[in-house]
Amino acid sequence: MYSKAMENISLSPIVAISEEVNRKAQETGKDFILFQRGEIGFSTPQYIVDAMVDALNQGLTKYPVSGGHIKLKKAIIQKLSSFNNVQGIESENIVVVHGGQEGLELVFQLFESKKAVGFAPVWSCVLENFVPYAKTNFVQIPLEADFSVNYDLLENEIKDAALLYLNTPHNPTGKIFSKEEIEKIVEVCRKYNVFILSDEAYEHITFEGKKHFSPMQLDYENIIGVYTFSKTYAMTGWRLGYIVSKNKQLANIFKLGDYTQTAGVPTYTQFAGAEALSNLEMEKKSVSAFMEEFVVRRDAMYEGLRAIDGVKLPCKPEGAFYIFPDFSEFVPKGLSESENKLYVFNKLMDAGVATVYGSCFGNYFQHNLRFSYSTTNLKQIEEGITRIKRALHD
Ligand code: PMP
Repeated sequence: MYSKAMENISLSPIVAISEEVNRKAQETGKDFILFQRGEIGFSTPQYIVDAMVDALNQGLTKYPVSGGHIKLKKAIIQKLSSFNNVQGIESENIVVVHGGQEGLELVFQLFESKKAVGFAPVWSCVLENFVPYAKTNFVQIPLEADFSVNYDLLENEIKDAALLYLNTPHNPTGKIFSKEEIEKIVEVCRKYNVFILSDEAYEHITFEGKKHFSPMQLDYENIIGVYTFSKTYAMTGWRLGYIVSKNKQLANIFKLGDYTQTAGVPTYTQFAGAEALSNLEMEKKSVSAFMEEFVVRRDAMYEGLRAIDGVKLPCKPEGAFYIFPDFSEFVPKGLSESENKLYVFNKLMDAGVATVYGSCFGNYFQHNLRFSYSTTNLKQIEEGITRIKRALHD
């Protein structure tokens, strides 16, 4: 009776895990170390909040201009040119949307019922939300154990696909796809005329001078970029992002899609976004303060987990705020399929450490767990590592 596409959407397992943690904490009085969510612990920088209040005080409370306000679009064009090295973008190439989430949803909708491919592990929302909603035939291409790309597998699957979903910096591994990797991936897509959906949600969260390389800067028209304010500016609750397409006709389709489902992003939110992007002095201050903290946490997570006998970490995360170690050493043989994928997750949960189990990110890496350090401070990380060590070895 109802639409299958709507019925097939499921609650993100990450949200389900968070609810379970809350329930368990209440029942047992235990204080959990929360590594499960990609929420940001910092507050939105004050200069951005002030810009929104100013816009409200100016009375910018009416229906928004469809596709986005020119003030924000101008700031985006400037940012794409200087930060992403993406040139030649005009306001008709940009559509302002309600966060990366809506941007990705619109692109998946454009390729409704088509074959799409993506590297696994893959962000759970792609699997639980966009794919069923757009009835996508989604094929997962496993990354290698060191998270490198297997180009033979990619080429095999991409031949008859319409779309490649590419996320860099990568959730859940913290990998940054290098310039060389992206050039090779784009080459394969060009060969078979496949569109690329470039999800750059974590573009600013990169470590040790390793820079994000935007696929959009390459000379290939069929790349659609999706960007968000959520992570860079600690604006997860504002719901602000944008789609960029070099093809203006496609951008117009996204504009109509956004208009149909939301009638646009509030103008005062867009003014705050414009200020976030164009006040470079304040941006530098706040983003670098976030980064300083993330790097300390990343190092503590990496060193702490690596020092636990049997935990495998192929490389140090280079970006985003996740780490995705392999715990297969700790899984006993002969378990049922469901016990198998939850074994270590449950063990850590019992020890008061909340994570996300590997199967939330697709068919591969079932014995990995994702740890987010976006809301945990150094002290909590250290306590978490102590609990993990105890749970696995005592
Ligand atoms: N892409 C990835 C890989 C993400 O992890 C997220 C959020 N966790 C998003 C996009 C979307 O974020 P938002 O909707 O808040 O912009």
